[in-house]
Order: sequence, then structure tokens, then C-alpha cells
Amino acid sequence: MNEQTIALVTGANKGIGFAIAAGLGALGWRVGVGARDEARRESAVAKLRAAGADAFGVPLDVTDDASVTGAARLIEDRAGRLDVLVNNAGVTGSGPQAPTEVDLATVRTAVETNVLGVIRVTNALLPLLRRSTSPRIVNMSSGVGSLTRQSTPGAETGPISAAYSPSKTFLNAVTVQYAKELRDTNILINAACPGYCATDLNGFRGVRTPEQGAAIAVRLATLPDDGPTGGFFEDAGVVPW
Ligand code: NAP
Repeated sequence: MNEQTIALVTGANKGIGFAIAAGLGALGWRVGVGARDEARRESAVAKLRAAGADAFGVPLDVTDDASVTGAARLIEDRAGRLDVLVNNAGVTGSGPQAPTEVDLATVRTAVETNVLGVIRVTNALLPLLRRSTSPRIVNMSSGVGSLTRQSTPGAETGPISAAYSPSKTFLNAVTVQYAKELRDTNILINAACPGYCATDLNGFRGVRTPEQGAAIAVRLATLPDDGPTGGFFEDAGVVPW
């Protein structure tokens, strides 16, 4: 019998992250539900388990060193390795985001979670990913992080944003650098764009469901060994940088 695949999804208590956890759980995988709030985490785990998923809670605030170290330790104790890491947790940073009026704290918040959080979690989990035969890392980015789209007149690029959009561009750049460093390993790392999904992040104004947004992450989490690395993908294919 094949060994059960072990995954960790950050920010999995709601929205797209919850849908990714459900999608991976439906594959028969064991899924760590990374979430910072105990009540929200336990409620998500209960819902996933009720749906038949082999889910377990992982206390995890991606902005906190001790929390991330604790999450890595918990995965090691529970599973001894990690096959798939989905860095999904993200925030918009809130507040006005036009570059001429943005508060630096807003930029800092977006970068702290959406970029530094991903690096912190990835580096803490890398030793466990290296024990897997087919490790995959998926970084949940956004089409608004595409500089090509942002600079194409007439392209649908969301609101002007000096915090959220650049944080996703930064995340894309970091994804490419990880791929470069890990090119001679079996680790595949890619960025995903879920499309505009109805979640708390945008006051549920998105036009896609969280499940639709989760699909590309599930696809990148299940790439074959000869799959791409260092790329940026949405349902329709490659997203231009
Ligand atoms: P969401 O419903 O607001 O969910 C965000 C998740 O991230 C929540 O579980 C939240 O936990 C978690 N989170 C935030 N900060 C965290 C931290 N410091 N540590 C741990 N978890 C943290 O938003 P979503 O739309 O599902 O977003 C998921 C990802 O998709 C984000 O990276 C987002 O940028 C990206 N994305 C979304 C859209 C869209 O249209 N919705 C489009 C493109 C990209 P709490 O419940 O504790 O806050």
C-alpha cells in the first residue's frame, strides 16, 4: 500500500485555504490545517473530518517565529516528514493603498504575512520536505502581483495598491529564487493565482467560489515529478510575471 501523503495548508480555517485542505483531504491525504486562532482552527478541522478528510489542527501564525517552529515540530511528531506545503495565508493589509497616501504600516503588514511569512514557514518546513520522495510547495499568489498585467493598459488589475499587489509581486520573485536554489533537488515550487474568489479578503465580492480558487493549488500540489518549478499558474495556464 502507498504511504499516505502529508500536506500542510497555512490559513486553512476559511476561504480558499479551507477549500484547498478539503480538496487535498478528498484525495485521501492527511492534511494539517494551519490556523492561528484555536476556535476557528478546531471548527475547520471538525468540518473537514465530518466530510471524511484526515485533517488535524496545526497552531500556526506565519508572522511568529515560535509559532512556526512549533508547527514544524508538530508535523515532525505526527508524520516525520512533509510532502506538500501550501503557503496560502494572506492579508490585504487593509486601509487606503494608493502609493501617494499609503501608511507604511499597511505595506509592512502585507509584506510581513504575504512574503516574510512564506519564507519563514518554508524554511522551517524544508527539512521535513526534504524527507519526502516528491515534495511540492505551492505559494498562493495573485494575478494582481503580475507586473505585466499591472502595466498593460486596459487589463483587469484590481484597485491601485502599494501594499497588497506588490507583496504578491515580491512573493513571485521569492518563488523564482527558491526554484533556482532548489533546482537540483526533487522539490517543485510554484506560485498560484486563484482568480477573484468570494472570501472575507474582499468582502465576498469575488466572482469565483473558494473551491474554484483552490483548484490550481491542488493541481500544483499534485504535480508529477517532471512537472514545472519556478512558474506562476492559474486555471487557464501560465500567468505572465
Ligand atoms: P481569507 O478568507 O481572508 O483567508 C485568509 C486566511 O489566511 C485565513 O485563514 C486567515 O486566518 C489566514 N491568515 C492571515 N494572516 C495569518 C497569519 N499571520 N498566520 C496564519 N494565518 C493567517 O482570504 P482568501 O481569499 O481565502 O485568501 C487566501 C489566499 O489567496 C491569500 O494568500 C490571498 O492573498 C490569495 N488570493 C485571494 C484572492 C481572492 O479573490 N479571494 C485572489 C487572489 C489571491 P484568520 O481567520 O485567523 O484571519
